[in-house]
Amino acid sequence: MQRANDKILFTPGPLTTSHTVKQAMLRDLGSRDFEFIRTVQEVRDGLLEIAGVTVTDKGKQRYDAIPVQGSGTFAIEAVLSSTIPRDGKILVLVNGAYGKRILEIASTLGIEHQAIVVPENEALDTRALEAVLLKDDQAAKKITHVAVVHCETTTGIMNPVEEIGRVVKRFARVYFVDAMSSFGAVPLNIEKAGIDYLVSSANKCIEGVPGFAFVLASRDAIIRTEGYARSVSLNLLAQLNGLENNGQFRFTPPTHALLAFRQALRELEEEGGVAGRNKRYTFNQTTLVQGMRELGFKEYLKPSDQGVIITSFCFPTHTNFAFNMFYEKLSEKGYVIYPGKVSNADCFRIGSIGRIDQAEIKALLRAVKETLAEMNITLTTH
Ligand SMILES: *Cc1c(COP(=O)(O)O)cnc(C)c1O
Repeated sequence: MQRANDKILFTPGPLTTSHTVKQAMLRDLGSRDFEFIRTVQEVRDGLLEIAGVTVTDKGKQRYDAIPVQGSGTFAIEAVLSSTIPRDGKILVLVNGAYGKRILEIASTLGIEHQAIVVPENEALDTRALEAVLLKDDQAAKKITHVAVVHCETTTGIMNPVEEIGRVVKRFARVYFVDAMSSFGAVPLNIEKAGIDYLVSSANKCIEGVPGFAFVLASRDAIIRTEGYARSVSLNLLAQLNGLENNGQFRFTPPTHALLAFRQALRELEEEGGVAGRNKRYTFNQTTLVQGMRELGFKEYLKPSDQGVIITSFCFPTHTNFAFNMFYEKLSEKGYVIYPGKVSNADCFRIGSIGRIDQAEIKALLRAVKETLAEMNITLTTH
């Protein structure tokens, strides 16, 4: 694998990308040029294929892929600000910082909201959701949308989006899933899961570079959102109509990021699609956990709740352990890990995603071992 001399990123994104993905950006395409328009179309079709949508019969296709300039949060904000009617209300299932961010967006936009909150080390289930929706149906029926995060990157926990989707559809609400850190690496059929809006971004598991995010939107749902937008640049329906009319973005597109992304999609396909990528990430994650356990670290989550994307490890209790020093020493050796985000426990995180393989995971484990020795830390293994 040819790579630049950069540090290797064991983070939730931006990630280490392949040399060929970076190389695909060494071009200047006009945003209205037919070659760029073709690139955008290839990217949009590729995204739908990953989500299990058949794109062969354009007329009957039930979803559209809508790229949105900016980071992942911009696309979440696009969905909330332009698909919820003025008298709508969103119910958010929360077990981490990204669920809370959806609430913060709703609150900032002045959208009525409600939350079901469970601790960060517990996966969400459908019982509380059923109770809240039942109560809402018996009362004024105010809730129009239900939102959940697929892989809560705060901890790495996986939420059961298909199961939740069955309940949301039974109660006939609009279903929004933040699949930012899982899309492309965890198999998910958008139609079977009953998802109306799914959001992810270029620089996570598809292994592109930062610059845009995307929404996969059900046609039935988005067609009804005329007049709902609370923002011009984030107006999803207008963005879709622009793309459908002339294949172009309404405002300056991130041309280089799209070229990189098209290459990243081709590389995903070469790897065997979502199944192939899931296999590599799973191997990365299990090797990482086994190696870290051998060094005396413990995971924050129960193994049954843990996904393959990112793993939270508890700070060791040894008096010599200081996270900043641990982080800096690893970074000096060329390995970038990630601070924790859990509110009630001291953790750090290590991602298993991006253009990394067994060789990189093993090199990281060696660096962790050396770093512990340098810090005079001996941990007892379990
Ligand atoms: C990365 C991520 C986001 C969005 O982050 P940006 O910094 O805006 O790209 C949102 N939700 C989840 C679950 C994420 O992992």
